[in-house]
Amino acid sequence: MNDTVSRLAETRAAIARAAGDVERRPEEVALIAVSKTMPEEVILPALEAGQRVFGENYVQEAKTKWPALRERFPDAEVHMIGPLQSNKAREAVALFDAIHSLDRESLAKELSREIARAGKAPLLFVQVNTGEEPQKGGISPGEVDAFLALCRDHHGLVIAGLMCIPPADEPPSPHFALLAKIAARNGLHGLSMGMSADYEAAIQLGATHVRVGSAIFGARG
Ligand SMILES: *Cc1c(COP(=O)(O)O)cnc(C)c1O
Repeated sequence: MNDTVSRLAETRAAIARAAGDVERRPEEVALIAVSKTMPEEVILPALEAGQRVFGENYVQEAKTKWPALRERFPDAEVHMIGPLQSNKAREAVALFDAIHSLDRESLAKELSREIARAGKAPLLFVQVNTGEEPQKGGISPGEVDAFLALCRDHHGLVIAGLMCIPPADEPPSPHFALLAKIAARNGLHGLSMGMSADYEAAIQLGATHVRVGSAIFGARG
């Protein structure tokens, strides 16, 4: 077995254990294998081993890598997890099955327009800046309810859930719990939270999508 394939199996087993600990079923947690910066030859073994959901951070990179891979694996899904410029909304709607980084009204407006034009909508997650870090994207926790209402009522968007990236220097669990609380009071089921270092804690707090890169593909160069 190659390294990626064995680490993928370990990650799946850890997801099943974490879910089992809180009496959730492993199928309730989608594993997004974050393949940003990884070339096709590193991604292929994961596809061949049955992994079907991948995460990318850059429109341009996804556009060069995924059309060919999807020709071979038509049921592969690609999720945009990085910051998205409004002027890339059209390409993003065409390319991605989900966007985890909806974090401002100008982007909501562009996505709404492009979804109507394309006649198909990616799954949408609103990114929440749970740590209120100035350098990070995301809606402040206190403004999420109003932003969700704006997305739904004004822009006609269907929002699947919320996403967060906790501050690197803080324990992540309070951030995951906060995200789950905001989602629950807004009637949202989707929770995109947890990365290589903390996906098990995220699953125990209700994650429906974990975004795991280096634990599967190794360190990025
Ligand atoms: C890169 C990235 C990940 C994956 O990070 P790892 O620590 O390698 O698992 C997850 N989420 C986002 C938003 C990222 O940019």
